[in-house]
Amino acid sequence: MAGLLRCAAQWSADAVQIRAAGLQNSAWSDRATAASGGAPKINKQEQKTVMTDFNRRNILAGGAAALAGTAALGETAQAQVGVTAIFPVAHATIPVVGLKEVFPVRRIYCIGRNYAAHAIERGSDPTREPPFFFQKPTDAIQVVAIDTVADHPYPSLTKNYHHEVELVAALKAGGTNIPVDKALDCVYGYALGLDMTRRDLQNAMGAEKKPWEIGKSFDHSAVLGPIHPVTKTGHFTKGAISLAVNGTVRQNSDLTKMIWNVAEQISKLSEAFELKAGDIIYSGTPENVGPVVKGDVLLCKLEGLPDMSIKIV
Ligand code: MN
Repeated sequence: MAGLLRCAAQWSADAVQIRAAGLQNSAWSDRATAASGGAPKINKQEQKTVMTDFNRRNILAGGAAALAGTAALGETAQAQVGVTAIFPVAHATIPVVGLKEVFPVRRIYCIGRNYAAHAIERGSDPTREPPFFFQKPTDAIQVVAIDTVADHPYPSLTKNYHHEVELVAALKAGGTNIPVDKALDCVYGYALGLDMTRRDLQNAMGAEKKPWEIGKSFDHSAVLGPIHPVTKTGHFTKGAISLAVNGTVRQNSDLTKMIWNVAEQISKLSEAFELKAGDIIYSGTPENVGPVVKGDVLLCKLEGLPDMSIKIV
């Protein structure tokens, strides 16, 4: 189910339903393999054929769950009223400062290279590139409580594990093609976050023109503090943002240096995806990203929010 939901966030729901049903379709499999990480391309006619086949098999099978899946074909993946899951799966949530209720997370978007100096250090031209986005799975979230130092596990496979301190915007509403001047109306609140990155794996995959997934979208890679409602803090359009490792400041910038501000990020993102309540957006990191090792203590600061700290273990 976790895999299903995660796929649903990235692929079309009908494609996911077909996969979940275990349909063996060679055209599908070939494309799914070739696309690994991107959306498999199935044209409308093929899709229709696949679905017809899918419907027939499952109606013959007669399983209630299969029929429920069939009914949802073409719909966005969502909880189905009256349908019981075969096992429970935790839903990712983030605490909200001052509230008993939590913020339910639908998707995690991250913007790449959004500070000129960081774009340059990553080898791109900040004056020409439009914003680009990637996603992390929602269960990659590690919430760090205020006034604590959370243990953060050094992940597998990497020998170059990087910090990226970022402003995170949490949405209470969404839509498509949202105008810039309406975009901030979608924001529920803000948090201070870390887009933790297996840089060696990200670079290696990039060099081979493969997806960044393994470098960016692993367990615990979406670190963040609790969400602060806009009603309490206002919108974050300026303010110092910094990160220190063992007391030495490494990243130190200001939100005014973002190439695309939060309103522009929401507007641009909504051209590619329908945004919805529960989506959160990591706004990109300033320059001087760098490696951490076990034992390091990271201290993140954003003007107007409490500090956020983790220890690499
Ligand atoms: Mn980042």
